[in-house]
Amino acid sequence: MNSKFNSIHNEIIKLVAANRVLANEGIVDAYGHVSIRNPLNKNEFLISRSLSPELVTEDDIYAFTLDGNAVESNIPTPYLERFIHGSIYNLRTDINAVIHSHADEVLPFTISETPLQPVIHTASDMGHRVPVWDIRDNFGDTNLLVTNEAQGHDLAIGLADNKVILMRGHGFTAAGRSLIEVVKVAIYLPKNAQIQLHASKLGKFTALSKGEIDIRSLVEPHAPQMVRAWEYWCSKAGVNPGK
Ligand SMILES: [Zn+2]
Repeated sequence: MNSKFNSIHNEIIKLVAANRVLANEGIVDAYGHVSIRNPLNKNEFLISRSLSPELVTEDDIYAFTLDGNAVESNIPTPYLERFIHGSIYNLRTDINAVIHSHADEVLPFTISETPLQPVIHTASDMGHRVPVWDIRDNFGDTNLLVTNEAQGHDLAIGLADNKVILMRGHGFTAAGRSLIEVVKVAIYLPKNAQIQLHASKLGKFTALSKGEIDIRSLVEPHAPQMVRAWEYWCSKAGVNPGK
């Protein structure tokens, strides 16, 4: 680990744990990434170098400014899609952690007109509305990846004040007040997508009401039930959950 992170060692441990948990839960595979806003400088975020989340260690974490540039020079290859993270931290001062995933289960909802809605209580944190962003709207034909600041900014505008945005033919990005909160959203979003798709084959289905979502959103990011889930996921993944 970079010695300048010594004072936030616990946050680095948790960021590494989040990488391993997301890999262990099948939310990310060789691709996908998770970041936190730098607790030492709100104009920076911390994320691994370009590496599969399953393999991330403390030594792989680097700081980036919100425009996607590495704070240090001569760092190893960064993630191509790091602009997703910086752009969201830039527009959303309430957000402290971001996850980007290509989870298969959500993909049908990125390419159809049926909106992804919270249908199970554990996925209520996805919020009232899950917008879909299509990179082609403003950037024409691309490789579909968010590889510059303009594309990241456009995605962050699409996210607006929501918690999750789907990306057409690509995946999703989730934003949270805390790392544990956004990990929970990312874990339950694909489960919700799968259940919604199954239920829609049975006919009409019932989603959570606006009032139900609001009541469930009163849970604080560090509430005991959130910590309990975090300890469980970390134990399953065999990683240190931090303090
Ligand atoms: Zn991607």
